Amino acid sequence: MSHSRTSPLIKPGSLLYKLLYLRLIDHHPEGKDIEWWARCRLEHICITPYFVYDILRTGIAAIIFMNFMSMIFIAAMVFTGLAIAGFQIAIDLRRKTQIHPHTDTLEMVKRVVLLRSLQWGVSSAFAMYLAPPEMLLHLVPVAIMVMWIEAIALIAVPRSAMINAGINGLALTIPLALIGGKGAIGAASVAVLSFLALHWLIFHLNYMFATRRLRTRKLTEAKDTIQLLLNQYDQDGSDWLFECTEEGHILRPTRRFCEASGRSAEELEGMQLLNLFYDSPERDELRQMGGQDENFQRLSVPLRIRGERRWWSISARKVTSPDGQRRYWRGFVADVTRACEAEERIKYIAHYDVLTDLPNRALFSTTIKRAFDRLGSDGMVALLAIDLDKFKAINDTLGHTGGDAALEIAARRIEECVPPGAMVARIGGDEFSVLIEHPLSRERVIEVAHRIVDAMHQPAEIDGQKARIDASIGIAFGPYDGANADEVIYAADLALYDAKMRGRNTASVFDSRMSEELQDRRQLESDLGDALAKGELELHYQPLVDTQTIETAGYEALLRWNHPTRGSVSPDVFIPIAEETGQIVAIGAWVLREALAEASRWPDHLTVSVNISPVQAMDRDLYATIVHCLATSGVPTHRLELEITESVLMRECEETIALLHRIRALGVQIALDDFGTGYSSLNYLRAFPFDKIKIDRSFVGDMAERADSDSIVQAVIALATKLNMRTTAEGIENAGQMDLLRVTECSQMQGFLFSKAVPASQLPHRKADDGVSHARITPLQKPPPAIDNYDTAVEARRSAG
Ligand code: GH3
Ligand code: MG
Repeated sequence: MSHSRTSPLIKPGSLLYKLLYLRLIDHHPEGKDIEWWARCRLEHICITPYFVYDILRTGIAAIIFMNFMSMIFIAAMVFTGLAIAGFQIAIDLRRKTQIHPHTDTLEMVKRVVLLRSLQWGVSSAFAMYLAPPEMLLHLVPVAIMVMWIEAIALIAVPRSAMINAGINGLALTIPLALIGGKGAIGAASVAVLSFLALHWLIFHLNYMFATRRLRTRKLTEAKDTIQLLLNQYDQDGSDWLFECTEEGHILRPTRRFCEASGRSAEELEGMQLLNLFYDSPERDELRQMGGQDENFQRLSVPLRIRGERRWWSISARKVTSPDGQRRYWRGFVADVTRACEAEERIKYIAHYDVLTDLPNRALFSTTIKRAFDRLGSDGMVALLAIDLDKFKAINDTLGHTGGDAALEIAARRIEECVPPGAMVARIGGDEFSVLIEHPLSRERVIEVAHRIVDAMHQPAEIDGQKARIDASIGIAFGPYDGANADEVIYAADLALYDAKMRGRNTASVFDSRMSEELQDRRQLESDLGDALAKGELELHYQPLVDTQTIETAGYEALLRWNHPTRGSVSPDVFIPIAEETGQIVAIGAWVLREALAEASRWPDHLTVSVNISPVQAMDRDLYATIVHCLATSGVPTHRLELEITESVLMRECEETIALLHRIRALGVQIALDDFGTGYSSLNYLRAFPFDKIKIDRSFVGDMAERADSDSIVQAVIALATKLNMRTTAEGIENAGQMDLLRVTECSQMQGFLFSKAVPASQLPHRKADDGVSHARITPLQKPPPAIDNYDTAVEARRSAG
């Protein structure tokens, strides 16, 4: 809707301009508002009961005019007056029924206004002209009053009002002008001035009327929109609005509020908002906020709804009631349970291990640092570093879930063994730590460690299977073994390492010597990493001799490390290091390549045996490495023999077994090494179809002296024969042992009697190109003190006769 002014014909600013055009404001509503504007104007006009007014005015005029006007005139005036009242009634009815457009009805109103003006103007003009002079004194004020009343009543239709005022003014001035005289001039002047004043007043009032209606309309629209949005918010939103008295009593709870709180509206109405929440620091904060005048936002407070813990976030501001009498709280609540739980969870995860519910490394580090800070001059802290033994094997046999269950069992067992006040933490993987502040004595701490070792050693049941979750423990004391937390942790780790080296399932107390040992080992690890590249590794070969023919049947490749400063390092020292650091995979591949390359230079009937470490057997690439080495060397597959120990099978890893089957399917021979040591479970002989069993030297060496060793060897050979497996007796050092074996069905022998392991360059069968030497040996009667070479030994035997 817009307000527009008519274009001025008279100079703007002049008095006439002001009188004529000032506030000559019209309202031009937009298309969609035309009807609404017409209705507003009709409503305003119809405030005045025109038909009553028509009847009253006509009646009063008839009574007054009757004194000096003809009856015909009176009758005509009454008739037209009643007719106009009738039109007015029709218009009122039409407006009330609301069937017809308001714009049409308004047009009718305007016409009736014109009729009424004309009817009254003509009647009053005639009456004025014909009235006796003494009556004029009464008639003029009445006419002027009618002029004012009608004009003001018609401010909603300003143009009609002006026409009405104009007609009424003319009806007054024309007869008075005709009559003449001073009084007439005065009265006419009043009429003209009234017209001008009314002109100004009507447009002024009309402007105010329009402005008020527009404002009211905008307010109503805004209120409706807000109400609509609020309803929508309450119905669909996850949040809800609430109101409380200044003292915190709930007012008019919404439907969402009732639903969310699980209470009825009656129950909530008047209830203390605080009573919805249980005692907590957040509730205290809410109470404090409620006592102040300041707004607050997103205050999260926990509560229980139908036994379930939830979090509500409350924002509120203090408002004053429209009458200015009361103050109350208004705001909204959001259920933020999920967000708060996520936040709590994040806080928990930052400090605790989810699997075992124990403090994690971060919390443990802060705690041990604080413990050090609190340490007095004679105080002490004890630290136990715990690592589960061979936990990877538990994971391999029971699966990751079984491994997790084992970790939980371990956590509970450790907790049960430690004194009250001690902190148990999971540092990561299969590592745990225990912090004991102010222990009674070192001995007590060592006792605790042994209690843990013993408790862990007890068999556990996981998924219906029995499992053993052993642990090794390193113990260190602060401030004696380290001046700060990090140093004590390091000391405990060294002690743990020592416990592992001492065979696991035990506890070690830190000793300053450990640090040197560790350093030494770390150096060895680092040197081993370079050994391959620097060509420090070498293969030596020890013959395997056929028991019946005493001919060389093949060689076992044995790894040697020629350390530049330490000299020859024993395989017993460096192989475990290579296995632990994972270097064994690369070294093993090199051994395979070297051994097969060497074997390609031997006569075709000679086999080559290569030891495969358990770590290597788990390497997915082993199969590809073997195939590649066989292909590049050109050695037929049946000439390669892989020696594995039972520990490869102990893991019961299906993948490893499958890998061994695939390798064997190539035609490669698989031998079970060191049989007789370790568990030597006959089950392993069923787990895999070995081609050969190597009987450990500890039995063979005792054969001549101990009947039981002899029986064991005999039994193993008999068993292997039954199972279609060949046998190799290791550690033959004298002819007596050889003779004992030759009467058995043992397939091969190996030992110093024939030769110790020698470098490839010293092998007698090596063909430079095509020459094949084929030695036949008669064993020595006595073992030589030092035999460098198998063939030298044979020669020596021959010359001895
Ligand atoms: P050692 O006696 O030398 O400690 O041998 P180990 O097999 O226990 O070796 P180590 O302690 O180095 O290996 C720990 C293993 O724990 C490595 C990983 O496979 C396993 N592990 C680490 N975290 C988890 C876990 O959360 N759940 C399970 N099931 N296993 C885990
Ligand atoms: Mg471990």
